[in-house]
Amino acid sequence: MKRIRDTLRRIELATRPVNPEVATALERVWNELPDHAQVANQTMGRHTTACEGTHGVFPKCDFGCTPCYHSKEANLVRIDGDHTVREVDRQMAYMRKRRGPGQYAQLIGGEVSLLTPEDHARALQAMVGHERKPMSFTHGDFDYEYLRALAVDDNDEPRFKHLSFAGHFDTTMVGRRGIKRAETERELNPFRERFCEMFNRLESEYGITHYLAHNMTVTGSNIEQIPDVIRECRQMGWRLFSHQPAAFIGNPTRWQDDFRELTNERVWEQIEMAAGVRLPYKAIQVGDERCNRSVWGFYAGDRYVPLLDDQHPGDMKARDGFFKSVGGMDFYAPASLVALRIARAALSNPSVVVPTASWGVRLLRRAGVRNLRRGPVNAITFALHAFMDADDVKPAWDLLQKNVMSDDPRIRTTQERLQACAYGMAHPDSDLIVPACVQHSALDPLEIASLREELPLRPRQPKRRLDLVSS
Ligand code: SF4
Repeated sequence: MKRIRDTLRRIELATRPVNPEVATALERVWNELPDHAQVANQTMGRHTTACEGTHGVFPKCDFGCTPCYHSKEANLVRIDGDHTVREVDRQMAYMRKRRGPGQYAQLIGGEVSLLTPEDHARALQAMVGHERKPMSFTHGDFDYEYLRALAVDDNDEPRFKHLSFAGHFDTTMVGRRGIKRAETERELNPFRERFCEMFNRLESEYGITHYLAHNMTVTGSNIEQIPDVIRECRQMGWRLFSHQPAAFIGNPTRWQDDFRELTNERVWEQIEMAAGVRLPYKAIQVGDERCNRSVWGFYAGDRYVPLLDDQHPGDMKARDGFFKSVGGMDFYAPASLVALRIARAALSNPSVVVPTASWGVRLLRRAGVRNLRRGPVNAITFALHAFMDADDVKPAWDLLQKNVMSDDPRIRTTQERLQACAYGMAHPDSDLIVPACVQHSALDPLEIASLREELPLRPRQPKRRLDLVSS
């Protein structure tokens, strides 16, 4: 009898639209958001607890990017797989406790492919062990053999069903094999394609699926090349095109004056030019609008179709219904389980059914039957993430630690953004999740100084004893 009861309880829990631990974490995140971010389109605290990233786990990198968000001394820390796995495990255990299961976490630091494939795999497994959905951040300059060795074990069996990678490709980077410094973004397209092809090959040989994000740092020099990058690369296999306007953060020796020319509006205009439509980023907000813009959608033929139109009241009603009924639901589960969760959500919230169905009909109309007949749709997300300058972040964070809001409008704006941060890093020792801006502006230099002691480039030799030989 007890066994039957336990089984029923397990089924009930698995088919609940939202895991109760996630629901608690969402409530906490929502309550911690400042007033200006508790708005109708806010997804933090409603559907996601926000992105997570590692820090201080493999600071070294073999490229020289301008800008580089890492500390000037990062390359003086030795890469050590055991240290990486231990720290990743510690940070992710903390995130699991604070943010519940099923959240997205970035395996990020210096260059991830400087880890051995085995250590890279162990780090990802540690993240999965804490129920994170990991994504490795890389410059993408590695070979298929590296990817294969990471993805399959010594018996040639897959270690993972699915891999997520963010590949950073742009003209701010120096050091890629075959093109040490690219003059134009177009010159990098063969390298972008080669990266995607490695994952296609892995999928065809081992059945390991993938999600690939294209990361591009935007400066005054490459901003106008964004449309060509997206148009020419959107069919390579990328699922997300993410753009980071360059900021004065990290290593000051890598800053350039043309970072000042950038605004979110200018960058977004270029992305819209590529998509060929207005990209309605106000439909769903991730954290603070001054930090993040995102639009989810798909290409039907050559037409890009955003999932939601922020100027259509019916779409906004459907979005509200989504948050209300399935906000926080994990859609990355077997299809039958997802169907049961959705059915339970619909039964508990019947008022969302009609607005959702109407939205579905509108979406099909926007895509157009002729475009839909042209072949499978290609899901693509467009995003912008604007880091802040270290000179603003440091005083803003210092004051926030003292619970003081600044009178200086610029610092106050920075504080508001930090309070609504959507990209946090775990500090278990101080029981804090710290915005990545703060990590790279204020904490990385201290952390790197201590890591240089712990992991010097050359392991210290024991001091030689000078024996006095008596004659
Ligand atoms: S890391 Fe900085 S720019 Fe990014 S969401 Fe957090 S506060 Fe905003």
